[in-house]
Amino acid sequence: MTDIAKQYAQIQARVATAAGKIGKRPEDITIVAVSKTQPLSAIEAAIAIGIQDFGENKPQELRDKVAYFEQPLNWHMIGNLQRNKIKYVLGHCGLIHSVDSIKLLDSLEQECQKRGVKVEVLLQINVSREQSKAGFYPEQIDQVLALAATLKHVQVKGLMTIPPYVEDPEQNRQYFSALHQIFVDIKMKNIDNIAMDYLSMGMTGDFEVAIEEGATHIRVGTGIFGTRQ
Ligand SMILES: *Cc1c(COP(=O)(O)O)cnc(C)c1O
Repeated sequence: MTDIAKQYAQIQARVATAAGKIGKRPEDITIVAVSKTQPLSAIEAAIAIGIQDFGENKPQELRDKVAYFEQPLNWHMIGNLQRNKIKYVLGHCGLIHSVDSIKLLDSLEQECQKRGVKVEVLLQINVSREQSKAGFYPEQIDQVLALAATLKHVQVKGLMTIPPYVEDPEQNRQYFSALHQIFVDIKMKNIDNIAMDYLSMGMTGDFEVAIEEGATHIRVGTGIFGTRQ
């Protein structure tokens, strides 16, 4: 087995255990293999063992990697997306996890309309309120949802967060649990065009806690591929 195969098998086993604790099945959790900075050969090795979901945080890198692989894969945009770079990801990635401003939401709608395409997005929420982090603050969400409800080409599918880097993942449980509560509250409102299907939270260091708190998508880079280039 290659390192990637071994590491992925370990992550899958840990996902299954965490999911089992809350009565979910492993297949209820999508493991997004974060391939940013990784060479094409690493992605090839991942595809060979059946990985289909890849996450990238730079629009051009995502576009280039998508162009290289001919088979259909699920590409996830997980990093900051400037409005002038929307063109690199539209039509290439299935889900944008990182919509963090009203302006970006508006621009995505305009670009999609121009091209006659649709896009599914998650709203990035800054639950831990770190100054250095992107995302809407919880008190801004109602305003964002009011706008999102009117869009014709951009569909909100859920929420995403990036909590602080911590040594002890238990320290992030509060943020995962808070985001899950927001997710449930929005879902109960049944707003047009707002589906709360996906909750993207948890990385290599804290994905088990995130799953226990309701994550449907975890984003795992170093845990699968090893250290980044
Ligand atoms: C890099 C990155 C990850 C993966 O981080 P690891 O600690 O390597 O698992 C997850 N989410 C986002 C938004 C990232 O930028």
